[in-house]
Amino acid sequence: MTSSISTTSSQGKDDSETPPVCKCGLRAKSKRSTTAANPGRRFYGCVLYGKQEHVPCDFFKWIDPPVEARNDEMLANLVGKLKMMDEQRCMMHEKIQLRDEKLRMMDEKIRRQQTREWRLKTLLVGSWAMFLCYLLM
Ligand SMILES: [Zn+2]
Repeated sequence: MTSSISTTSSQGKDDSETPPVCKCGLRAKSKRSTTAANPGRRFYGCVLYGKQEHVPCDFFKWIDPPVEARNDEMLANLVGKLKMMDEQRCMMHEKIQLRDEKLRMMDEKIRRQQTREWRLKTLLVGSWAMFLCYLLM
């Protein structure tokens, strides 16, 4: 987390954009809308707005797209992410199933090998016993 701070802050996507010049010939100031229709939506306004003894111009320009469009975009983004996550989940499930199948096959192989070994051992012991019997007779 700490290592990514320096790279993300230096790129400062929208804030690095130079603000337009308002009708007073001054650089407009970015502000955030607090209206119910556009909550948090950023816009450029006259720097002199709200300052006493100064008459601001009526310069106004939205920075962010309309809230509704942003919501749609966000929703589309979220739906896309969800779909991706679902696909990943499906892929993981398939992988797990494949691994399960492999494990089962390996288990079967081991069991088969074990029985073969056991048979070989009994055969060896049996033949040795028979050989000893033959010697003793
Ligand atoms: Zn102005």
